[in-house]
This record gives sequence, structure tokens and C-alpha cells, in this order.
Amino acid sequence: MERRKFFQLFSGVAVSALPGIRQASAAPRRVGIVGGGILGGSLAYHLARRGAEVTVFEKTRPAAGATANSFAWINATFSKRPHHYHHLNRLGALGYRHLERELGGDLKVQWGGSLEWYGVPDRARRLRQQVASKQAWGYPARLIDLAEFEKLESGVEPGEVLTASYSEQEGSIDPVHTAEVLLDHAKARGAEILYPCEVTGLDLKWGRLRGVATTQGDFELDVLVIAAGVDTPKLAAMAGLKVPLIESPGVLAHTKPAERLINRVVLSPGAHMKQKLDGRLVAGMGFGSAPVTEATQEEGERVLASGKTYLPGIGKLELERVTLGYRPLPRDGFPVIGFSEGVPDVYLSVMHSGVTLSPVVGRLAALEILDGIEVELLDRYRYARFEKKRSS
Ligand SMILES: Cc1cc2nc3c(=O)[nH]c(=O)nc-3n(C[C@H](O)[C@H](O)[C@H](O)COP(=O)(O)OP(=O)(O)OC[C@H]3O[C@@H](n4cnc5c(N)ncnc54)[C@H](O)[C@@H]3O)c2cc1C
Repeated sequence: MERRKFFQLFSGVAVSALPGIRQASAAPRRVGIVGGGILGGSLAYHLARRGAEVTVFEKTRPAAGATANSFAWINATFSKRPHHYHHLNRLGALGYRHLERELGGDLKVQWGGSLEWYGVPDRARRLRQQVASKQAWGYPARLIDLAEFEKLESGVEPGEVLTASYSEQEGSIDPVHTAEVLLDHAKARGAEILYPCEVTGLDLKWGRLRGVATTQGDFELDVLVIAAGVDTPKLAAMAGLKVPLIESPGVLAHTKPAERLINRVVLSPGAHMKQKLDGRLVAGMGFGSAPVTEATQEEGERVLASGKTYLPGIGKLELERVTLGYRPLPRDGFPVIGFSEGVPDVYLSVMHSGVTLSPVVGRLAALEILDGIEVELLDRYRYARFEKKRSS
């Protein structure tokens, strides 16, 4: 497949007037996607929208994997470094604004930003530095005083505050709802969503893909996209690729629906919290905290107790369920996106922050897959970086 470099940065506006793109009739038509999570959903939607014949193979049911167990905060905030990765996440957030419009109101995003604060000098100083560095990149994050804090979230009792920040363009979604909406819109454009349907083998000859074997039979394909979350290494191995992921569990506590306590993503020193449109509050203990690998009632209560220190209203809420999810986290923390040398018809799409990134990844992947273009913005996220490390 001939691919040309595409130097125009995806600017958040529909990409148009691309120079010298291969005619649609010569593009691969039959695209299979392994995985019906948020990335599979976005890829299916963007590919079907562009006229590809899309088949999604999902081994259990849509949004059953990491997507179902995600906190689902849309952000490009402080952990999103260096600049290229921050930028990609910003485009992801921007992509949601596009999708909201494109999907005619079916997709519900809770905008409103995120609040973070610390009363401990070290952490407060770091937050100030983080805000300053994000501002230098033009990111709308700023320090706020207590009066503004109170106006933004009157139900929160922050305790000692040395530094508080507000990142106003962030938001959150219900990840299952979002994946389902994307798959529904893909279906409306002709995509087939098969489940339960597990991909059990790849039919490859001389490195070229002929199709896949599944629990619902064999399918002929031109391109296979692997968006199988933590199962990606298993699928990639069928094509001779070794995708290294790190184990990264995360527990969330979900309450029963309740009256509104918070309106934005609240990143307290104890727990991160959000309240969904249906009134359910979701809380977790932070990416960096000691990994917990059991979704017990006690763990759920512990998370809520930690949140209650800063949001006393939690005391009135009832724990409904506790979830444990594994982040599809590549070894170096960055996404793995794109075709790889040697297996030119297999496209990889695995990443943490897949909630934030799925709109931009879906859109750019459709360009790469259907137009034979290499989007420069994705160059840092190629699989080849792991092969180079192995051979050096
Ligand atoms: C606790 C937690 C908190 C998170 N918080 C955030 C956050 O705040 N913001 C953010 O942006 N991201 C967050 N993430 C990460 C984000 O949720 C993931 O990056 C994203 O959901 C990955 O989506 P996916 O579609 O790639 O994978 P998944 O949702 O795991 O989907 C993969 C699908 O592939 C299917 N599959 C696997 N093997 C096969 C096969 N052989 N055949 C057919 N189907 C198969 C699985 O059944 C699964 O449904 C969080 C994740 C966790 C666990």
C-alpha cells in the first residue's frame, strides 16, 4: 500500500482539500474491527461514515471491556505530557465537540471543566508549575481563589487550600452510552456489529491479510483493525507483532442515582469524582495510588469515604456497585496506532486515555486506512518504536 506523508495538522475542523489522496474506489473497502469498545465504536463510525464496509467483531457485547469500567474524564490536563501527547488529547476533547454536532444530539457530553486542589505545600507547588506549563502551551487551565472555587462547586468542602486550579474545557461522558451511540451511528451507515463473536485467527498469506476466523465463521477482509483493549497483544501476536502492555487496574465506586452534588470533574486530594447525568456519582482513588485488584464492597466504601472528606453530601448516597477495569496501557504510556511494517493490512489501535482520544483517533485512522495517508501527528505512536528497542 502506497502511503504519503500528510503534513497538515488535524486542526479540529473537518479535514478537507487533501492533496493527492488516492481515489475512494482504490481504497480498501472491507474493514474488520476487533473490539466493540469506545475505540472500536469510534473507528467503526468514522470508517463507515467514509463509505467503508465495516464489520465489528465483539467477543462479548459492546463496551464490555475497559470502556465499561472507565472514569471517562475527557482531558488534556497535567499528566498529559510531553507537548505532542497533550496536543493529541486536546484534539480528542475537541473531537467530542464535533461528534456532538455530527451525531445530531444523540451523544451526551457533560462539559463544565475540572477542579483540582491541594493543601500540602509540595503538591500545591507542583500544581502551580503544572498549570503554568500547560498555560505556556495555550491550555485553558488557571489558578482560582476560594471565592471562585465556592461558586463553581458549592457542595465541596475543600479543607486547607494552598493552590486550586480550574481546567475549564474538560468534561466527562458515560462511556457505555458513548460507545453504543457510535456503534449505532456506524450501523446506520451500513456497519455490521457482530456479538458475541470472537476473532480466533487471522488468515495471512505472504504477510497480506485475506480475512479472519471467528466464532461466527470466516470473513474476507482488506484491512483488520485491532482495537481489542487489553487483549490486543493476543490478537497482534496472531500477526507476529509483540505489543507490550503494562497491567494497570483501577477500581471505581458507583452510587445509586441521587440529587445533584457536583457539576464538574472534582479531583480532590482524596478521590476523583464525577456525577453522571442520571445522578449516579462515580469515584476512584487516582491513577498513581497502590493498585487494587478486587472490586469488593469494602473497597467501594473506602473510595466513597475518601471522597466524603471533601464532598460531605456523599454521606447520603448509597453504593450501588464497584467495578474493576484494566487500562490498555502500552509500556511507555503512549498509544500504539497505525499499520506496521511487514503486516501492511493490520492496523493497531490500543491506548490508555482511549475515552479522551477515541474521536481524534477514529477520524485520523479513517484517513490512514482509507486514503493511504500517513498522518504525521501519529508518527510518534507507531508500533515500530518497540521493534527498534528490541533490535538495539
Ligand atoms: C479505571 C479506569 C479509569 C479510566 N479513566 C479514564 C479517563 O478518565 N479518561 C480516559 O480518557 N480514559 C480512561 N481510561 C482508559 C479508557 O477507558 C480506555 O483507554 C478505553 O476504554 C479503551 O477502549 P478500547 O475500545 O480500546 O478497549 P475496550 O473497551 O477494552 O474494548 C476492547 C473490546 O475488545 C473485545 N475483544 C477482545 N478480544 C477480542 C476478540 N478476540 N474478538 C472479539 N472481540 C474481542 C473485548 O471484549 C472488548 O469489548 C480508564 C480506564 C480504566 C480501567
